[in-house]
Amino acid sequence: MKTIGLIGGMSWESSAKYYQLINQEVKKQLGGLHSAKCILYSVNFEEIQRYQAQGDWEKAGHVLGDVAQSLEKAGADFIIICTNTMHKVIKLVEEKISIPILHIADATAHQIVKSDIRTIGLLGTSYTMEQDFYKSRIESNGIKVLVPNIEDREVINKVIFEELCLGEILQSSREYYKKVIQRLIEDGAEGIILGCTEIGLLVKPEDSEVPLFDTTVIHALESVKKALE
Ligand code: GLU
Repeated sequence: MKTIGLIGGMSWESSAKYYQLINQEVKKQLGGLHSAKCILYSVNFEEIQRYQAQGDWEKAGHVLGDVAQSLEKAGADFIIICTNTMHKVIKLVEEKISIPILHIADATAHQIVKSDIRTIGLLGTSYTMEQDFYKSRIESNGIKVLVPNIEDREVINKVIFEELCLGEILQSSREYYKKVIQRLIEDGAEGIILGCTEIGLLVKPEDSEVPLFDTTVIHALESVKKALE
């Protein structure tokens, strides 16, 4: 079994979910007392979030690059970055290591393609919904990506940083997300990417008429697949 290196803490609420999903899947596949070989390096999200807000992605990338280096030295065979947003700086991280990084958007795009879906709605932080680094990676698989309107994007983003990353799960926010999902469906979305690793803590399959692609689950399971290859 390969050792998975997790860059976590963004937020730790979703990293905990990753840790649980990865171990559950190893147990499911191998049985008995089997559990995942993994190393979790959990950063201080306050620091990373400050760099995001300042637009200092270079600095954030260097912090995560140093973390990746530590994981490689500690024996990780490959790395997963447990947030969609921070894949914006994946190149800066890759430059510092010689082990591969399993990209969250590639794993997600493969699942969408398998489902024969060609138009997908994307929910995530404003960075993920509005900038090109994530959408273009999905679109390079022949998938059309729809994002919510500006007012909806602002609320979706606010709920992520002011509630979900702090462990607050509110019914009122779930209702809002459901309405946004419905609007994306009306615009043609045949499925929805939960493109932020905390959204799955709030929105469940029964909250949507179309399939949800929970990036936390997809990424965690893909990492187990690679670890057991
Ligand atoms: N976990 C979130 C994501 O998947 C947001 C936190 C962050 O900005 O990294 O994008």
